Amino acid sequence: MAQLRDLPVAVIGAGPIGLAAGANLAERGIEFHIYEAGASVGTNLLDWAHVKIFTTWEQSIDPVSVRFLEKSGWKMSNLSTLPTGGEIVERYLKPLAEVPELKPFIKTDARVTAISRAGIDKVSSKDRAAKPFRLRIADSSGNVYYEHARAVIDASGTWTNANPLGGSGLTVPGETENAAHIVYGMPDILGKLKERYAGRRSAVVGSGYSAINVLLDLARLPGNAKQITWVVRGTDLARIYGGGEADQLAARGALGMHLRQLVDQGEVNLVRGFSTEKVSSSGDGLVLHGETADGLVSVGPVDQIIAATGQRPDLHMTRELRLELDPSLESVKALGPMIDPNLHSCGTVPPHGYLELSHPEPNFFTVGVKSYGRAPTFCYLPVMSKPALSLPRSRVTLRQRSRFILCFRKLAFARQTPWQMKFAVENQRR
Ligand SMILES: Cc1cc2nc3c(=O)[nH]c(=O)nc-3n(C[C@H](O)[C@H](O)[C@H](O)COP(=O)(O)OP(=O)(O)OC[C@H]3O[C@@H](n4cnc5c(N)ncnc54)[C@H](O)[C@@H]3O)c2cc1C
Repeated sequence: MAQLRDLPVAVIGAGPIGLAAGANLAERGIEFHIYEAGASVGTNLLDWAHVKIFTTWEQSIDPVSVRFLEKSGWKMSNLSTLPTGGEIVERYLKPLAEVPELKPFIKTDARVTAISRAGIDKVSSKDRAAKPFRLRIADSSGNVYYEHARAVIDASGTWTNANPLGGSGLTVPGETENAAHIVYGMPDILGKLKERYAGRRSAVVGSGYSAINVLLDLARLPGNAKQITWVVRGTDLARIYGGGEADQLAARGALGMHLRQLVDQGEVNLVRGFSTEKVSSSGDGLVLHGETADGLVSVGPVDQIIAATGQRPDLHMTRELRLELDPSLESVKALGPMIDPNLHSCGTVPPHGYLELSHPEPNFFTVGVKSYGRAPTFCYLPVMSKPALSLPRSRVTLRQRSRFILCFRKLAFARQTPWQMKFAVENQRR
């Protein structure tokens, strides 16, 4: 087998963060391979291609990737506008995947199904750091092969691993049986799925910005007035609607305010403090049953349920690795206190670098939205160009502060695109 130092770095996933990792490795002259499960780069974004995001182009692109793109004649205009998921793929990720520095090293239809270290399992410690990573990869025809790497950057996201309807985090009785009428995530309500939702009764479960977007889309369809029910576990209206005019991202704040108007006008029926326990189907549609402060309550009947209940990381792939995760968020452990959704939203998360993205497993890093685990607070923008020294003392411990400052000094500025990885990989090379 090749020497560890002669092997490439494996990047898992060709979303915005996996491609940024590739670009930053390329700029440093470090060999890499990007493995993408889907048929195209940005596969997960294509699933929500219709959604306008709430950060601008300028806040959502990686400077190193832009340098490569510009060398190939690419130009981005209107940097202050808000792109959709589809526009990010078509105007940024696909051109990026074509630049000569990246193109030969991206493999699509290559799903990484397991990662271990060559010749040893999770229990063995002897010479662990000197053993190459061994990746099991499958294509869509079922062919399986193995490749080796000296470091692994997991940028595989969480999008396809939706949380179930159950308020307790479990699939509820009736959820699987009625799957034909339940959609998870952000269906294309105003486009491809218009027929399915226009003039029908819908219940949306969940309280994040995905839920808010879904509700606003439903309300825009003809015949949907007073047909929409919004079911949330929480009771605090300020948290449910988000930051409003005080939101750090104006576009995001505006969404919450608009929805509040619809609820106040009775267009959307808001059911608060409802923890889903069961879905049943009556002759007239689906009924959600949930525990509330007043006991068991039923909501419905409705024709469709949309579960905008967030995502969680798929941890099967890394079963043979020594990971350290935050016990509640399943994020990288060090990030846990920095991204706690009880305290933070995208835009208030403090700067962090490769140290926070690492694990006890040497040279394995979790990056991008997966590094945040179940926390919905990930965005590209958060920590860009924000000096660590300006962190509010109340939010972080002194130990955390000194780690941020260390990262900040080392990297000039910290941002959660994973180019910080190059330092770790280079250190290992020495
Ligand atoms: C609706 C929505 C709106 C958002 N709006 C904003 C916003 O306004 N601003 C912002 O900054 N952020 C926003 N985000 C958050 C975040 O920026 C995005 O989720 C972003 O796509 C995360 O990029 P990523 O590369 O980490 O993961 P993803 O984009 O999810 O990419 C992961 C990639 O890995 C691939 N993959 C998965 N498993 C495997 C495997 N086993 N092997 C190989 N490949 C695999 C997937 O196919 C995918 O291509 C939004 C997210 C959503 C869902």
